[in-house]
Amino acid sequence: MYTIIGAGIGGLTTALVFEKLNIEYQLFEKSSGPNAIGAGIWLAPNALQVMEFAGVLDEVINVGNVINRITLTNHKLDIITDSSQLPAKEKYGFSTVAIHRAKLQSVLIDALPKNKIHWNKTVKTIAQLDDTISVTFEDNSKSESRYLIGADGIDSKVRSFIFPEAKIRYSGQTCWRGVMEEALPIEYQERGIEMWGQGIRFGMSQISKSKTYWFAVQKSKAFGKDDKRTLKKKLLNDYKAFHPLVNTIINNTNTETILRNDITDLKPIKHWHKGNICLIGDAAHATTPNMGQGGAQAIEDAYYLGRLIAENSNKNIFKAFYIKRYKKANAITSKSWLMGKIAHYNKAASIRNLLFKNIPKSVLDKTMHAVYELNE
Ligand SMILES: Cc1cc2nc3c(=O)[nH]c(=O)nc-3n(C[C@H](O)[C@H](O)[C@H](O)COP(=O)(O)OP(=O)(O)OC[C@H]3O[C@@H](n4cnc5c(N)ncnc54)[C@H](O)[C@@H]3O)c2cc1C
Repeated sequence: MYTIIGAGIGGLTTALVFEKLNIEYQLFEKSSGPNAIGAGIWLAPNALQVMEFAGVLDEVINVGNVINRITLTNHKLDIITDSSQLPAKEKYGFSTVAIHRAKLQSVLIDALPKNKIHWNKTVKTIAQLDDTISVTFEDNSKSESRYLIGADGIDSKVRSFIFPEAKIRYSGQTCWRGVMEEALPIEYQERGIEMWGQGIRFGMSQISKSKTYWFAVQKSKAFGKDDKRTLKKKLLNDYKAFHPLVNTIINNTNTETILRNDITDLKPIKHWHKGNICLIGDAAHATTPNMGQGGAQAIEDAYYLGRLIAENSNKNIFKAFYIKRYKKANAITSKSWLMGKIAHYNKAASIRNLLFKNIPKSVLDKTMHAVYELNE
C-alpha cells in the first residue's frame, strides 16, 4: 500500500496512474477540498502523453485551449522566435494545452474514486517503524502503510523529514498572475506568448473560449506584499511601454483575483528517496516556471513511478525511479533558472533579442523534442 501526500498535480496524477495499473494507494491532502488557485497552466506534450495514458486527455482538451505556437516576442509583440507545435503534434498526437488550474484539478479529481482522497489531512509527523511508515495528521488521525510518496510541493513536509538540509532558492523575481474573463484577439487565440521587455516580461494565452491567463514577471525583493487598491495602477504603469493589448488585459482583470508569488526553486538534491519514502514533483525538484515544465515534470514522475512499481522488476524501485528521472528534471531546473536570468536582461535586451532571433529552427525543434519526449 502506498500513502500519497498532496493532491496537487503530481499527487493526483500519481493516483490516476496507480488506478490504471492496479496499485493500492490512499491520498491525503491538507486542503478541505478542491481549491486549486493560480490562474492558468500550460501542459506540454510530455504531460499530455501521461494524461492520455491515465485516460483523462479528452477532458483536459475539452476544458482547456489548444496552443499551436509558442511565441517569444519583444515588448511590442514583434516576434523573436515562433515555435510551431505542429512537429510535436505529428510526433506525439497533440500540441500544448493551456488550462485553468481549477479545471485541471477537477478533471483529475473527477476521474478518481472519492473514497481514496482524504481532505483536511495536514501531515504533522512521520515515523518510520521497521517496514511501516506511520503518518500522523494535525487532527491526530494516522495512516500506516509500507511506502510513502511525498507529492506535497516545494515546501514539502515529507522532504523536511528525510532531507532537512534541502534549500529553496529565491530567483530575485516576482510573478503576478491573473485571468481576464475575455478571449484574446483571434490572431493570438492559439498561441502561448511571452513578451520580453527591458528587465521585465509579460506572458499570455487563452485558457478557454472566454478566459485569458496572463503573467507579469519583474525583479523584486522577496516577501513583498501588494496593496490591492493600487496594484492595477502599478502594473499598468510598469507595463506602459508594452503593446496596448497588455494594458487591456490588466485593465480587464478583477484586481481581487490577481495573485503574487516569489519565483523560487529547490536547489537540486542528491537523492529523492530514503528507505521506503520517495519524493516526486516539486517536493523532489521544484523548478522556476520559465520553461512551463514544473507541472509536466511532476506528471512525468507519476507515470514513471507507477510503471516501475507495476513492472516490479527492481527491488529498489525508488532508486530506479530516481535514476530514470533525475537527469531530465535537474537539467530543466538548471536551464529554467538560466532562462529566467536571460529574460530579465536590461541593458543587453536588444542584443539578447537579436541572438535569440537567429537561433536556427533545427536547434529550437531539437530542444523542444528533448523536453516533450518520454523515454521508455
Ligand atoms: C507562476 C508559476 C507558473 C507556472 N506555470 C507552469 C506551467 O505553465 N506549466 C507547468 O507544467 N508548470 C508550471 N508551474 C509549476 C507547477 O505549478 C508546479 O511544478 C506543480 O504545481 C507541482 O506539482 P506538485 O503536485 O509537485 O505540487 P503542488 O501542485 O504544489 O501540490 C502540492 C499539494 O500538497 C499539499 N500539501 C502541502 N503540504 C502538505 C501537508 N503538510 N500535508 C498534506 N498536504 C500537503 C498542497 O496543499 C498541495 O495540494 C508554474 C509555477 C508557478 C509558480
